[in-house]
Amino acid sequence: MGRFDGKVVLVTGAARGQGQVEARLFAEEGASVVATDILPIVHQVFETSGIDSKQHLSLEHDSTNPKQWHQVVENAVSTFGRIDVLVNNAGVTSRTGVLETLLDEWDRVMDVNAKSVLLGMQSVLPYMKQRGGGAIVNVSSIYALVGSGASAAYQASKAAVHLLTKTAAVEYARDNIRINSVHPGIIDTPMIANMSTDRYNILVSGTPMGRLGRAEEVARGVVFLASDDASYITGTELVIDGGYTAH
Ligand code: NAD
Repeated sequence: MGRFDGKVVLVTGAARGQGQVEARLFAEEGASVVATDILPIVHQVFETSGIDSKQHLSLEHDSTNPKQWHQVVENAVSTFGRIDVLVNNAGVTSRTGVLETLLDEWDRVMDVNAKSVLLGMQSVLPYMKQRGGGAIVNVSSIYALVGSGASAAYQASKAAVHLLTKTAAVEYARDNIRINSVHPGIIDTPMIANMSTDRYNILVSGTPMGRLGRAEEVARGVVFLASDDASYITGTELVIDGGYTAH
C-alpha cells in the first residue's frame, strides 16, 4: 500500500529538476499524477519506474495563466475525478540587485514564482473544500528567510510565497486543508546549471554539510508534507538546506 493510493496529485514545473522527481515519487507511492509544465513533460520518467500510463497525465501549462489553470484543473478532475494534493513547484531564478532590477524582470519573476502560487491555490481550493480536505505544498526557498545579495526579485517572490502559505493555511485549517511551504537550499538542478565556479564555491563553503542538495532530498520533504504523516502540520516551513540557514 502506498501513502497516496487512490489520491490525485498535481505538480507544476514537473518537466525537470525537483518537480520531475516529485511527480515520480508521488506516482511510486500510488498517486495518480497530473504533471504540468511550460516545457514538454518527459514521460520516460514515469515509464522507467514502471508506472502505468493510466496513472499519469501530462499537460502543457503556463502557471501564470489563469485560463490555463482552469483548463488543467477541469482536465485533472474529469480524468481522475478529484484533486487531493497540489504542489506549486514551478519557478524561475533571477540574480539582479535592487538597483539593477528592471520592472520587466520584477514582473516576470513575481508572476512565475508568486502569482502562480496564488492562482494554483485559487484553482484547487474550491474542489478540496467541496471534497472535505486536501494538502498544498508551496515551494519557496531559503532566500525567503535570509538575504543573499543581488537577488531582489527572486527573494521578494519567495518571501511572498512564504507568507501567502501561512495566511492560506490559517484560512483553510477548519476545512481540513493543510498548506505548507518548503524552503530548499542550493539544489543540484538545471536551475543552477549556469552558476559560476566562484559562486558555486561560496555556496558550498557556506553549507555546513559541504555539498549541494539533490532534487530527491527536497522531493521527499514535499511528499512528506503532502502525506497523512503530516496530518497535524499546517502553515509551517520545512527548510531543506544542509544547514545553510542554521548559522
Ligand atoms: P528547474 O529550473 O529545474 O525547474 C523549474 C521548472 O519550472 C522547469 O521545468 C520550468 O520549465 C518550470 N517553469 C518555469 N516557468 C514556468 C511557468 N511559467 N509555467 C510552468 N512551469 C514553469 O529548477 P528546480 O531547482 O527544480 O526548481 C523547482 C523549485 O524549487 C522552483 O520554485 C525554485 O525556485 C525552487 N528552488 C530551487 C532551488 C535550487 O537551488 N535549485 C533552491 C531553492 C528553491
